[in-house]
Amino acid sequence: MSGYLLEATGITKRFGGVVALKGIDVRQQAGETLGMIGPNGSGKTTFVNVITGHLKTNRGDVRFDGNPILNRKPSQIANTGLTRTYQAVRVFGKLSVRENVAIALVDARDPLDADAVAETVDWLAIGHRWEAEAGSLTLDEQRRLELLMRLVQRPKLLMLDEPVGGLSATEVRAMIRLLAELKARSSIFLIEHTMKVIRELADRVVVLIAGEKLAEGPPREILADQRVIDQYLGSADA
Ligand code: ADP
Ligand code: MG
Repeated sequence: MSGYLLEATGITKRFGGVVALKGIDVRQQAGETLGMIGPNGSGKTTFVNVITGHLKTNRGDVRFDGNPILNRKPSQIANTGLTRTYQAVRVFGKLSVRENVAIALVDARDPLDADAVAETVDWLAIGHRWEAEAGSLTLDEQRRLELLMRLVQRPKLLMLDEPVGGLSATEVRAMIRLLAELKARSSIFLIEHTMKVIRELADRVVVLIAGEKLAEGPPREILADQRVIDQYLGSADA
Protein backbone atom coordinates (compact mmCIF):
# COMPACT_ATOMS: atom_id res chain seq x y z
CA MET A 1 0.00 0.00 0.00
CA SER A 2 1.32 3.40 -1.00
CA GLY A 3 -0.68 5.28 1.61
CA TYR A 4 -1.99 7.67 -1.04
CA LEU A 5 -5.69 8.08 -1.71
CA LEU A 6 -4.98 8.69 -5.41
CA GLU A 7 -1.79 7.59 -7.09
CA ALA A 8 -1.61 8.16 -10.83
CA THR A 9 1.68 7.33 -12.55
CA GLY A 10 2.86 7.75 -16.11
CA ILE A 11 -0.56 8.81 -17.40
CA THR A 12 -0.32 9.25 -21.14
CA LYS A 13 -3.19 10.10 -23.46
CA ARG A 14 -3.02 10.58 -27.17
CA PHE A 15 -5.74 11.90 -29.49
CA GLY A 16 -4.56 10.98 -32.96
CA GLY A 17 -1.43 13.06 -33.42
CA VAL A 18 -1.95 15.14 -30.27
CA VAL A 19 -0.37 13.85 -27.07
CA ALA A 20 -2.60 15.49 -24.47
CA LEU A 21 -0.87 13.93 -21.43
CA LYS A 22 2.79 12.95 -21.49
CA GLY A 23 3.49 10.61 -18.58
CA ILE A 24 1.87 12.56 -15.76
CA ASP A 25 2.43 11.50 -12.12
CA VAL A 26 -0.01 12.80 -9.51
CA ARG A 27 -0.25 11.67 -5.91
CA GLN A 28 -2.86 12.86 -3.44
CA GLN A 29 -3.15 12.14 0.28
CA ALA A 30 -6.51 11.55 1.94
CA GLY A 31 -7.84 14.83 3.33
CA GLU A 32 -5.77 16.91 0.95
CA THR A 33 -7.12 19.51 -1.48
CA LEU A 34 -4.96 19.22 -4.57
CA GLY A 35 -5.19 21.95 -7.18
CA MET A 36 -4.41 21.59 -10.88
CA ILE A 37 -3.76 24.68 -12.99
CA GLY A 38 -2.49 25.37 -16.48
CA PRO A 39 -3.43 27.07 -19.74
CA ASN A 40 -6.44 26.02 -21.82
CA GLY A 41 -5.61 22.84 -23.69
CA SER A 42 -2.86 21.78 -21.26
CA GLY A 43 -4.66 18.50 -20.48
CA LYS A 44 -6.40 19.17 -17.14
CA THR A 45 -9.85 17.92 -18.15
CA THR A 46 -8.29 15.01 -20.04
CA PHE A 47 -6.48 14.02 -16.83
CA VAL A 48 -9.77 13.94 -14.90
CA ASN A 49 -11.45 12.08 -17.79
CA VAL A 50 -8.78 9.36 -17.72
CA ILE A 51 -8.78 9.05 -13.92
CA THR A 52 -12.58 8.82 -13.69
CA GLY A 53 -12.87 6.35 -16.59
CA HIS A 54 -14.47 8.76 -19.08
CA LEU A 55 -11.52 8.26 -21.44
CA LYS A 56 -9.44 5.15 -21.90
CA THR A 57 -5.69 5.01 -22.31
CA ASN A 58 -3.13 2.26 -22.65
CA ARG A 59 -0.27 4.01 -20.82
CA GLY A 60 -0.14 4.60 -17.09
CA ASP A 61 -1.44 3.27 -13.82
CA VAL A 62 -4.05 4.62 -11.42
CA ARG A 63 -4.56 3.42 -7.89
CA PHE A 64 -7.44 4.72 -5.84
CA ASP A 65 -7.60 3.72 -2.21
CA GLY A 66 -4.98 1.08 -3.07
CA ASN A 67 -6.95 -0.53 -5.92
CA PRO A 68 -6.14 -0.34 -9.65
CA ILE A 69 -8.91 1.53 -11.49
CA LEU A 70 -7.43 2.51 -14.86
CA ASN A 71 -9.85 1.90 -17.75
CA ARG A 72 -12.69 0.70 -15.57
CA LYS A 73 -16.14 2.08 -16.40
CA PRO A 74 -17.02 5.49 -14.89
CA SER A 75 -19.88 3.93 -12.92
CA GLN A 76 -17.57 1.29 -11.43
CA ILE A 77 -15.01 3.93 -10.52
CA ALA A 78 -17.70 6.16 -8.99
CA ASN A 79 -18.78 3.19 -6.91
CA THR A 80 -15.30 3.02 -5.39
CA GLY A 81 -15.86 6.61 -4.16
CA LEU A 82 -14.10 8.61 -6.88
CA THR A 83 -16.40 11.04 -8.61
CA ARG A 84 -16.34 14.34 -10.46
CA THR A 85 -18.18 17.40 -11.68
CA TYR A 86 -17.89 18.80 -15.21
CA GLN A 87 -16.41 21.98 -16.63
CA ALA A 88 -19.70 22.31 -18.59
CA VAL A 89 -22.26 21.40 -15.90
CA ARG A 90 -24.11 18.12 -16.46
CA VAL A 91 -27.55 17.92 -14.92
CA PHE A 92 -30.78 16.55 -16.38
CA GLY A 93 -32.20 19.82 -17.68
CA LYS A 94 -35.75 18.58 -18.30
CA LEU A 95 -36.06 17.04 -14.85
CA SER A 96 -36.66 18.81 -11.55
CA VAL A 97 -33.95 19.38 -8.98
CA ARG A 98 -35.68 16.75 -6.83
CA GLU A 99 -35.61 14.22 -9.67
CA ASN A 100 -31.95 14.94 -10.40
CA VAL A 101 -31.10 14.25 -6.77
CA ALA A 102 -33.27 11.10 -6.79
CA ILE A 103 -31.27 9.77 -9.76
CA ALA A 104 -27.99 10.49 -8.00
CA LEU A 105 -29.26 8.65 -4.93
CA VAL A 106 -30.36 5.60 -6.95
CA ASP A 107 -26.96 5.51 -8.67
CA ALA A 108 -25.06 5.55 -5.37
CA ARG A 109 -23.84 2.41 -3.69
CA ASP A 110 -23.88 3.97 -0.24
CA PRO A 111 -26.01 7.14 -0.43
CA LEU A 112 -26.61 9.71 2.28
CA ASP A 113 -29.73 9.10 4.38
CA ALA A 114 -32.74 11.40 3.98
CA ASP A 115 -31.81 13.68 6.90
CA ALA A 116 -28.29 14.16 5.61
CA VAL A 117 -29.62 14.86 2.10
CA ALA A 118 -31.93 17.54 3.54
CA GLU A 119 -29.02 19.09 5.46
CA THR A 120 -26.90 19.15 2.30
CA VAL A 121 -29.75 20.74 0.32
CA ASP A 122 -29.98 23.48 2.98
CA TRP A 123 -26.23 23.92 3.08
CA LEU A 124 -26.12 24.43 -0.69
CA ALA A 125 -29.16 26.75 -0.49
CA ILE A 126 -30.92 24.97 -3.33
CA GLY A 127 -34.14 23.92 -1.53
CA HIS A 128 -36.20 26.85 -2.86
CA ARG A 129 -35.63 25.42 -6.38
CA TRP A 130 -36.58 21.85 -5.41
CA GLU A 131 -39.44 21.46 -7.92
CA ALA A 132 -37.92 23.66 -10.65
CA GLU A 133 -36.62 22.19 -13.91
CA ALA A 134 -32.86 21.95 -13.57
CA GLY A 135 -32.47 23.54 -17.01
CA SER A 136 -34.22 26.68 -15.73
CA LEU A 137 -31.69 27.22 -12.91
CA THR A 138 -28.93 29.81 -13.13
CA LEU A 139 -25.45 28.47 -13.85
CA ASP A 140 -24.52 29.06 -10.21
CA GLU A 141 -27.55 27.04 -9.05
CA GLN A 142 -26.74 24.30 -11.56
CA ARG A 143 -23.18 24.12 -10.25
CA ARG A 144 -24.53 23.75 -6.71
CA LEU A 145 -27.03 21.10 -7.89
CA GLU A 146 -24.25 19.14 -9.56
CA LEU A 147 -22.24 19.35 -6.34
CA LEU A 148 -25.30 18.16 -4.39
CA MET A 149 -25.71 15.20 -6.76
CA ARG A 150 -22.13 14.14 -6.08
CA LEU A 151 -22.25 14.76 -2.33
CA VAL A 152 -25.33 12.59 -1.77
CA GLN A 153 -23.17 9.77 -3.18
CA ARG A 154 -20.65 10.25 -0.35
CA PRO A 155 -17.46 10.39 -2.45
CA LYS A 156 -14.05 9.70 -0.93
CA LEU A 157 -12.53 11.96 -3.56
CA LEU A 158 -14.40 14.67 -5.41
CA MET A 159 -12.79 15.96 -8.60
CA LEU A 160 -14.09 19.45 -9.51
CA ASP A 161 -13.44 20.75 -13.03
CA GLU A 162 -13.55 24.57 -12.83
CA PRO A 163 -16.29 24.83 -10.17
CA VAL A 164 -16.46 28.62 -10.42
CA GLY A 165 -16.26 28.75 -14.22
CA GLY A 166 -18.74 31.35 -15.54
CA LEU A 167 -19.78 32.59 -12.08
CA SER A 168 -19.95 36.23 -10.97
CA ALA A 169 -17.52 37.62 -8.38
CA THR A 170 -20.19 37.34 -5.67
CA GLU A 171 -21.02 33.78 -6.68
CA VAL A 172 -17.31 32.90 -6.70
CA ARG A 173 -16.96 34.16 -3.12
CA ALA A 174 -19.97 32.09 -2.05
CA MET A 175 -18.62 28.98 -3.79
CA ILE A 176 -15.22 29.44 -2.12
CA ARG A 177 -16.98 29.55 1.27
CA LEU A 178 -18.85 26.31 0.48
CA LEU A 179 -15.74 24.54 -0.78
CA ALA A 180 -13.73 25.72 2.23
CA GLU A 181 -16.27 23.99 4.48
CA LEU A 182 -16.29 20.92 2.25
CA LYS A 183 -12.51 20.77 2.28
CA ALA A 184 -12.55 20.32 6.06
CA ARG A 185 -14.34 16.99 5.71
CA SER A 186 -13.49 15.72 2.24
CA SER A 187 -10.65 15.13 -0.21
CA ILE A 188 -10.89 17.42 -3.22
CA PHE A 189 -9.11 17.59 -6.56
CA LEU A 190 -9.62 21.05 -7.96
CA ILE A 191 -9.02 22.31 -11.49
CA GLU A 192 -9.23 26.11 -11.57
CA HIS A 193 -8.32 29.17 -13.59
CA THR A 194 -9.31 31.57 -10.82
CA MET A 195 -6.19 31.89 -8.69
CA LYS A 196 -8.16 33.26 -5.73
CA VAL A 197 -9.82 29.84 -5.50
CA ILE A 198 -6.46 28.04 -5.67
CA ARG A 199 -4.85 30.38 -3.13
CA GLU A 200 -7.69 30.00 -0.66
CA LEU A 201 -8.38 26.28 -1.02
CA ALA A 202 -5.50 24.23 -2.38
CA ASP A 203 -2.99 22.62 -0.02
CA ARG A 204 -0.77 21.81 -3.00
CA VAL A 205 -0.88 22.60 -6.71
CA VAL A 206 0.21 20.78 -9.85
CA VAL A 207 0.92 22.90 -12.93
CA LEU A 208 0.30 21.32 -16.34
CA ILE A 209 1.74 22.88 -19.48
CA ALA A 210 1.08 21.17 -22.82
CA GLY A 211 0.50 17.79 -21.20
CA GLU A 212 3.58 17.92 -18.97
CA LYS A 213 3.95 18.67 -15.28
CA LEU A 214 5.91 21.91 -14.99
CA ALA A 215 5.86 22.33 -11.22
CA GLU A 216 4.22 21.08 -8.05
CA GLY A 217 4.09 22.53 -4.53
CA PRO A 218 2.24 24.78 -2.08
CA PRO A 219 0.22 27.58 -3.77
CA ARG A 220 2.39 30.34 -2.25
CA GLU A 221 5.50 28.88 -3.87
CA ILE A 222 3.89 27.86 -7.14
CA LEU A 223 2.13 31.17 -7.78
CA ALA A 224 5.45 32.94 -7.25
CA ASP A 225 7.46 30.53 -9.43
CA GLN A 226 8.90 32.49 -12.34
CA ARG A 227 8.43 29.57 -14.78
CA VAL A 228 4.75 29.33 -13.81
CA ILE A 229 4.34 33.10 -14.18
CA ASP A 230 6.04 33.11 -17.59
CA GLN A 231 4.25 30.08 -19.00
CA TYR A 232 0.81 30.50 -17.46
CA LEU A 233 0.02 33.20 -14.90
CA GLY A 234 1.19 36.01 -17.11
CA SER A 235 -1.94 35.38 -19.18
CA ALA A 236 -4.33 33.90 -16.58
CA ASP A 237 -7.12 35.44 -14.53
CA ALA A 238 -4.89 35.65 -11.48
P1 ADP B 1 -7.72 21.71 -20.46
O1 ADP B 1 -8.81 21.07 -19.66
O2 ADP B 1 -6.44 21.86 -19.72
O3 ADP B 1 -8.16 23.01 -21.09
P2 ADP B 1 -8.12 19.48 -22.27
O4 ADP B 1 -7.79 18.30 -21.44
O5 ADP B 1 -9.55 19.77 -22.50
O6 ADP B 1 -7.37 20.77 -21.69
O7 ADP B 1 -7.43 19.32 -23.69
C1 ADP B 1 -6.07 18.92 -23.85
C2 ADP B 1 -5.78 18.69 -25.33
O8 ADP B 1 -6.44 17.51 -25.77
C3 ADP B 1 -6.26 19.78 -26.26
O9 ADP B 1 -5.33 19.88 -27.33
C4 ADP B 1 -7.60 19.28 -26.73
O10 ADP B 1 -7.92 19.81 -27.99
C5 ADP B 1 -7.35 17.78 -26.81
N1 ADP B 1 -8.57 16.99 -26.58
C6 ADP B 1 -9.26 16.94 -25.42
N2 ADP B 1 -10.30 16.08 -25.52
C7 ADP B 1 -10.25 15.58 -26.78
C8 ADP B 1 -11.05 14.63 -27.49
N3 ADP B 1 -12.10 14.02 -26.93
N4 ADP B 1 -10.70 14.36 -28.78
C9 ADP B 1 -9.63 14.95 -29.35
N5 ADP B 1 -8.84 15.84 -28.73
C10 ADP B 1 -9.14 16.16 -27.46
MG1 MG C 1 -10.69 21.78 -19.15
